[in-house]
Amino acid sequence: MAHAACSFILNGGPGSLTLHDSACLHEVVLLSSVVALLKIARMGHPVLLARAEPVADPTTAVMRRLVSDMIETMDDAKGVGLAAPQIYQSLRLLVWRYPKENPAVVLFNPEIASYGNEEPFFEACLSIPGLKGEVHRPTRVSFTGLDASGAPVSGVTDDKFVARILQHENDHLNGVLYPTIMRDLSRFAYIDEYEEYLKLSPPADSSHVDGQSQPSAEPRT
Ligand SMILES: [Zn+2]
Repeated sequence: MAHAACSFILNGGPGSLTLHDSACLHEVVLLSSVVALLKIARMGHPVLLARAEPVADPTTAVMRRLVSDMIETMDDAKGVGLAAPQIYQSLRLLVWRYPKENPAVVLFNPEIASYGNEEPFFEACLSIPGLKGEVHRPTRVSFTGLDASGAPVSGVTDDKFVARILQHENDHLNGVLYPTIMRDLSRFAYIDEYEEYLKLSPPADSSHVDGQSQPSAEPRT
């Protein structure tokens, strides 16, 4: 009657747990808010080059856990976005959080349309640690998809940095890494060399995307 006991524990609170309920304890832990840091795939792994598959049901326990772990992993790495292929899951799922005080946003099966003028910006990527490169992207996007409850969501952003995050993460779902869309590989550099030789005017220093540092400046609007 392990399940009945587990239901009782979950409904009745942890005070109901006893030592001989080891199977239930395992289940309670799995169902709890405990999250895990996930290993991040690095450039060269084929999962980062594949087109990810749509998610049929964002509401399953597996997906809820995956979303929680992705957000935890993104925050721990001081990133502002993370796509599921970056944690070895070839699924059309991305999360982002910017500014860092905002709630994390979850988007399943996104469709993203980019428009507006293209602007250059140095991006970093958690899957390409230690490097940055200048990427030209449109400054506005509209998006549709499903949120964590499976409900349809849509939006438009005029925030250049959020637009860049969404495009960068959506590229991950299509197997695209930013160096492959750079126009000038002389603008691809180790971060410390970038800081010394390539760094542009101060506003352009908010130039990380899912990379290792949160932008130090507020996004330009
Ligand atoms: Zn990335």
